[in-house]
Amino acid sequence: LYKDLTGKVAVITGGSKGIGNAIAERFGQEQMKVVINYNSDKAGADKAVEQIKNAGGEGVAVQADISTEEGVQKLLDAAVDTFGDLDIWINNAGMENQHPTNELSLKDWQRVIDVNLTGVFLGAKAALNYFLKNNKKGNIINMSSVHEQIPWPTFAHYAASKGGVKLFTETIAMEYADKGIRVNSIGPGAINTPINAKKFADPEQLATTTSMIPMKRVGDPSEVAAAAAWLASDESSYVTGITMFVDGGMTLYPSFEGGRG
Ligand code: NAD
Repeated sequence: LYKDLTGKVAVITGGSKGIGNAIAERFGQEQMKVVINYNSDKAGADKAVEQIKNAGGEGVAVQADISTEEGVQKLLDAAVDTFGDLDIWINNAGMENQHPTNELSLKDWQRVIDVNLTGVFLGAKAALNYFLKNNKKGNIINMSSVHEQIPWPTFAHYAASKGGVKLFTETIAMEYADKGIRVNSIGPGAINTPINAKKFADPEQLATTTSMIPMKRVGDPSEVAAAAAWLASDESSYVTGITMFVDGGMTLYPSFEGGRG
């Protein structure tokens, strides 16, 4: 645990399940004050608030669609009105769906870009303006993916959104570095969350996935949350503009395993 995180105020988008939920739980253990955003899963967000309180932190669940300016404003207002400040903003919410690109509708393309890329821009913009106005050395963490680096046929819109997150993160990290504001991404590999539930429930598909991971297992959401806690803490005080891959080695070209090639 990181002592400097005690009492810090964080917003986590998409915190009702999966990786966002695991970050909320970890931030509760860190004795933080957390705004848990959810889009539709109120029960999941309420449960996360309970978990945070049981661990000794404080939490509040707030419904908002983070692909809209009103949505992110609502989250910022909740942090300031409920906890009096904002220290850390985690752009975690994301979505994916699979279509051959020649059949991908403009609507599906647009929705994935709106949530995964525009949502990251809107969240970062709201946080940056708060940090600048209040002269705060704030911290922004964006949930990218190994697919900011690895192409993914039939998920072109998803890969494009995460590739966008990579350069957005690097650019704003540079733009606000002299203000002491840090911006980093996390690039999870295959993590056991609801987004993958159907795929990992099928033993054949699970075996295919693990064969692509040098560590030969999928990751647990808590392992991504541990990276978020480190990036949020002062222990990473000289780190900005990186993507920290949490992927069991998936980005290491596993097809070369065993000296192949
Ligand atoms: P998940 O589906 O379990 O959770 C995603 C969360 O985002 C949900 O709570 C969902 O309600 C929320 N969300 C979606 N659209 C929203 C909107 N418009 N407004 C507010 N909330 C919204 O998925 P997860 O696996 O926990 O993924 C979290 C993040 O990690 C995503 O950005 C995803 O792309 C990324 N990621 C996940 C994996 C993985 O293997 N699970 C791998 C790489 C990257």
